[in-house]
Amino acid sequence: MKKILVLEDESSIRSFVVINLRRAGFEPVEAETGEQALELLEHNPDVKLALLDVMLPGIDGFEVCRRIRAAGSRIGVIMLTAKSQEMDKITGLMNGADDYVTKPFSPAELTARIDALCRRTCADEDEPEGDELVHGPFLLNTRTRALEKNGSNIRLTQIEYSIMSLFMHNPGKALAREDILAAVWGKDYVGELKIVDVNIRRLRIKIEDDPTAPVYISTNWGYGYTFN
Ligand code: CA
Repeated sequence: MKKILVLEDESSIRSFVVINLRRAGFEPVEAETGEQALELLEHNPDVKLALLDVMLPGIDGFEVCRRIRAAGSRIGVIMLTAKSQEMDKITGLMNGADDYVTKPFSPAELTARIDALCRRTCADEDEPEGDELVHGPFLLNTRTRALEKNGSNIRLTQIEYSIMSLFMHNPGKALAREDILAAVWGKDYVGELKIVDVNIRRLRIKIEDDPTAPVYISTNWGYGYTFN
């Protein structure tokens, strides 16, 4: 599912856009301010396209767009401009936007513009088959770092993702806590082994049907964990 950032400070417009994107099969991530949007993009490298409102408290949509491009990102960017003024469109495009939609817009208009842009900007990002690891109900995309369980997305932190990736590369193998620590946190990590247990506990809450009776990640007492 293609992830789309929706930056809009007006909650009524934002939820209108979000609902319609979901209906069209996209996975929206929401931001209320430009600063929040940039942070979200940093944590969601799999975002394919961004819808940026222009008028915002704090940094405006143009500036967000400029920073996205300055960071080297090639995601599709559509500006949501309140006015049909020529200046807004030009400023947006000069800052690296790919397109703009003038408010008010219909859901059909918006998704048509997204689809058109996606054909150009999302095409070269389609994930090759080899980047997917599948075990039981889990599908891990190692390129987008996304985990699905029975087709539903499970949000993971970078650390949780790294643990899951290690497990899925070593199914059925008992992994020592020391090995998990070295693989995920690095050999130079100075800290307690307990951090492994804490993260496994959190990961279990996310992936197990019943975290109190884990099936997928089992404990090898006094040693480590096994992914089944
Ligand atoms: Ca606004």
